[in-house]
Amino acid sequence: MPSRFSTRISEGAFFEAVLKLGPEWEVTEISIFEESKRIEIALGFRRETGVKCPDCGRTCAIYDHGQERQWRHLDTMQYETRLRARLPRADCPEHGPQTVRVSWADPKTRFTHLFEAQAIEVLENARSIVQACHLLRIGWGTADAIMGRAVKRGLERRSLEALPRVGMDEKSFRKGHRYITTLNDLDRGRVIEVVEGRTEADADRLWEAVPETTRGTVEAVAMDMWQAFENATLKAVPSAEIVHDKFHISKHLNEGVNRVRAEEHGTLARRGDDRLKGTRWLWLRGEENLTDSQYEKFSDIKDAELKTSKAWLIKEAFRFFWSVPRDRVHAEEYFRDWYRHTIYSKLEPMKKVARMLKARLHHLLTWWSHPITNAVSEGLNSKIQSIKSAARGFHSFKSYRTRILFFCGKLDLTPNLT
Ligand SMILES: [Zn+2]
Repeated sequence: MPSRFSTRISEGAFFEAVLKLGPEWEVTEISIFEESKRIEIALGFRRETGVKCPDCGRTCAIYDHGQERQWRHLDTMQYETRLRARLPRADCPEHGPQTVRVSWADPKTRFTHLFEAQAIEVLENARSIVQACHLLRIGWGTADAIMGRAVKRGLERRSLEALPRVGMDEKSFRKGHRYITTLNDLDRGRVIEVVEGRTEADADRLWEAVPETTRGTVEAVAMDMWQAFENATLKAVPSAEIVHDKFHISKHLNEGVNRVRAEEHGTLARRGDDRLKGTRWLWLRGEENLTDSQYEKFSDIKDAELKTSKAWLIKEAFRFFWSVPRDRVHAEEYFRDWYRHTIYSKLEPMKKVARMLKARLHHLLTWWSHPITNAVSEGLNSKIQSIKSAARGFHSFKSYRTRILFFCGKLDLTPNLT
């Protein structure tokens, strides 16, 4: 059976059929602008009476028709396509004259839902925002506004029933020691919220983004050894366990080794001994990651009676803290032995790290109930980093937050298509 439109029909009927704007709207004029490769479709409101007030839903008389507005729609073949219409205003006895809602676009936007849905898809899949803007023939600000609306929509729809394991992570933002902090859902690998700064007040605001009932489901929080995060977390989720991130701990230990090496290298070099020259990365990388020739060089100096090799052994011994003990009790014993050995080493930078770890030991031992790290968030962080480089710097924190949640929030971003 031939379909309804297999025979010749008028252009107006054709566009009404494919636009699906509802029986209230008709196509009154179609203009083709050959020069600018553009089509404009003018719409007229069919009904003379009975429009709904957007505030209360009451059926009212038409007060008047507002000024003509335009919406960019999906292209018609090779032509950029816009809809044009004057929207009726309902004469609401309670709310006064109110512009009616239309099915094809959100209030006060210049794009139809279908265009925004396409834009979201292109933004998600293009290599960069610049490239997406180019493909969509839209400007930077427009992309920003579409992403902002998408994120707002996604956050309204998001359900946060349970968040058993979360991570709190900081990241530098712009130059000059400015930071952002993210709260990440470690189970689902998504960013829950982003705030500017990394003070206790900033971390408080981060927790405020999580509804009270959801906070009750948080069992463990991975974080760096940062007092502000700890304080805010203890206030917001007092029953959750804090687990200091093992990668951040190993970073502190590496810094200790590096300080010992730099100092020792200075002392040796003054005596004409340059054994430690150019060895910085050998000590930090982990034996198993060295190439054959690096390994050869490394085994020579590692076995020499150097302070740096002692510091390195201390660092290496700590790696077993996460894997060798059978349980929390043994882990505590392991730590005490390691600590004693480190304090006797007379290596100040290592002792300093050891004292810091001892003071927070209760938040290290939690690893044995909740083996979580910020590694998931580190993965997210590299995504955030690429967002940052793709955007060539941000004018405001607000658009940075939008992009992070757009790309890393796993939100349902698409407009409701009717
Ligand atoms: Zn009303």
